[in-house]
Amino acid sequence: MKPIEEITSEDLKDTRLLVFDVDGVLVPRGTKIKQEGRTITLETKIIADEQIEQLRKLKEKGFYININSGRSLFMLQNMFRAVLGYASLTYENGSATWNEGNIVQHVNSFKYLKGLNDKLETVTKHPHFRGFEPKEFIITIHCEDEIPQIPSIVQEHSNSIMDSYEHGLYCIWNGEAYDIGVKGVQTKGIGLRSLIEYLRLEKKNSLAIGDNLNDIELLSQAGIAVTADRSRVTGDFYVPLSGKRLPAAIMSDCILAKKL
Ligand SMILES: [Mg+2]
Repeated sequence: MKPIEEITSEDLKDTRLLVFDVDGVLVPRGTKIKQEGRTITLETKIIADEQIEQLRKLKEKGFYININSGRSLFMLQNMFRAVLGYASLTYENGSATWNEGNIVQHVNSFKYLKGLNDKLETVTKHPHFRGFEPKEFIITIHCEDEIPQIPSIVQEHSNSIMDSYEHGLYCIWNGEAYDIGVKGVQTKGIGLRSLIEYLRLEKKNSLAIGDNLNDIELLSQAGIAVTADRSRVTGDFYVPLSGKRLPAAIMSDCILAKKL
């Protein structure tokens, strides 16, 4: 693994699509959410002016910009309203992509997750529970700390559907929330693969940056993989996590500095 500063024009000669993870890459980590009964309060982080400017310049250089996140479309549209003119949004761990107002669905998780929300209702009383993040295709539960019942309820549901369907479920704890979806099907990697196909590109034309466990598949589907947290994900290049600037800012500067 090389530091991102060492990326060369030669490395980037086939790159046309730049894919950015959101939390910990384009905006700082951490989601403020609170659920009391049927009322959910959720903070929206907005893309900073520096990143707006960088994405605009990358677009000018001819790159196709994609934001690939576990978050919902509604949230992403609010966070990235300033760049929607030149960035597409792949949301809920590869479930679908919003592109200039069109929605391309990549995954249908309905039959796999049906009934699971009701089973998970019991954890809302746990002291670590903070809230269900509003989502359409995956389930995300924010918690102060891990709640062991959550993976066990998911595992039980997964076992029950495996009799009828070919896929089970994953339940990933990322330090602030559990992401629950269809194993091997509902991943950021599938989102990227589907997007590459949709844009009629090839894997070698893509570069992706991510920092968390749900980015492992994303980075494995990219021609060039950039990790923003070497303790969780590996890649061809890395951006130091502890820096004061966001990983997307550091990487964008390195790419913009190359003559292309
Ligand atoms: Mg992230």
